[in-house]
Amino acid sequence: MIDPFGRAITYLRVSVTDRCDFRCVYCMAEDMVFLPKSDLLTLEELDRLCAAFIAQGVTRLRLTGGEPLVRRDVMWLINRLGARLGHGLEELTLTTNGSQLARFAPELAKAGIRRINVSIDTLDAEKFGRITRWGRLDQVMQGLQAARAAGLAVKINAVALKGVNEDEFDEMIAWCGREGFDLCLIETMPMGEVGASREAQYLPLSAVRARLAQRWTLLPSTHQTGGPARYVQVAQTGRLLGFITPLTHNFCEGCNRVRLTCTGTLFMCLGQDDAADLRAPLRAGGDGAALQRAISQAIARKPKGHDFVIGRESRPAVARHMSVTGG
Ligand code: SAM
Ligand code: SF4
Repeated sequence: MIDPFGRAITYLRVSVTDRCDFRCVYCMAEDMVFLPKSDLLTLEELDRLCAAFIAQGVTRLRLTGGEPLVRRDVMWLINRLGARLGHGLEELTLTTNGSQLARFAPELAKAGIRRINVSIDTLDAEKFGRITRWGRLDQVMQGLQAARAAGLAVKINAVALKGVNEDEFDEMIAWCGREGFDLCLIETMPMGEVGASREAQYLPLSAVRARLAQRWTLLPSTHQTGGPARYVQVAQTGRLLGFITPLTHNFCEGCNRVRLTCTGTLFMCLGQDDAADLRAPLRAGGDGAALQRAISQAIARKPKGHDFVIGRESRPAVARHMSVTGG
């Protein structure tokens, strides 16, 4: 699949549920209203949709959410997708808040997942409770131990929040070095109303990076995922440190991905509203030609880039929350 700007689309992110057992302050409002369960595609339908994308050239798939591991029977889907590894699919990964990892890590590894992203914004248990509203850091730490025991490589995702965790990045880099994890810092993106000021949360990573470079030796790295993160290697720990800077550095020119929601809506860009409905062609049945056509037509509409802006007057750039598409 080649989009109008010559970008090959080989990566699909699938949000398997919009629900979550946390309420992170930058992601959700505390009183989030979730989709009625009847709107959700079944796991079997999600598997068929993924298969259609793999048939059209997607080689890497990431499951996300909401919290993917709170969807009932999600392991059924993960095992089905895992069985597609080596048959068009080259990599299956997961982004999780880690709350259910202690239970699922061994099964994830068995299904063929080799690496996962776990979101942790702070190593301070009390602060973790404040940021996630409902989360418990000790539970996530147990999940990380289970992931390591199961042989899963881990990348920690941390959203950089002004005045909240900006004093902790040195400690997090050192901790990741000790634990053998890579780390990726993310700027907050203005998605959905969360009941807090985006301007108050926003911390430009350009400044963070300059500060970190005074303490750590940041070596250029060729590591590239085709994603928005730009990586350096921390000489003192040997681990990768990534920066996702949608607001200070536009990352769209190399974009290789599209995003599917749990209702079968395809978003061609995280920072734009245009979307394609794949549920109707999926349910139309037949030989699948209508679905393949709908996917091709959607890719032909992929926009050049996002419109994120954070300013005093800013409304969310897109009305939907990050939990709809999963980042
Ligand atoms: N629940 C899982 C988790 O937290 O990892 C998967 C879904 S979550 C929406 C995916 C990632 O998006 C997390 O790393 C989270 O921190 C990040 N995220 C959520 N809202 C964001 C926002 N407004 N700006 C930037 N990153 C955000
Ligand atoms: Fe849930 Fe992940 Fe959003 Fe936090 S960032 S509320 S864990 S979906």
